Amino acid sequence: MSQYYSADFLRMLRNEILIDEVITDLMNLEVRNMRDRLRFRCPLCYNFHTATNHVTNLARCFDCQKNFNPIDLVMTVGKCSFMDAVKILKDRIDQ
Ligand SMILES: [Zn+2]
Repeated sequence: MSQYYSADFLRMLRNEILIDEVITDLMNLEVRNMRDRLRFRCPLCYNFHTATNHVTNLARCFDCQKNFNPIDLVMTVGKCSFMDAVKILKDRIDQ
């Protein structure tokens, strides 16, 4: 079976699956709600100096100075490969 995913499909995964949903529902990260902002425990430094951006659909850790798109976040939290992360996100869409 082919393991090829088109650039359009990968872009769709990064954009269509809301980063907040990846954090809370898919990866079950510990979160704190600050007014209308979601803060999550950074999978790298474990601090809460974080935010999500609904325009870019990225999660950012200000301490690590790192942005995570949904694929990055699944790879980092799940300690899995790019292909594994894509499959996890794809399975969610297919549900
Ligand atoms: Zn961090």
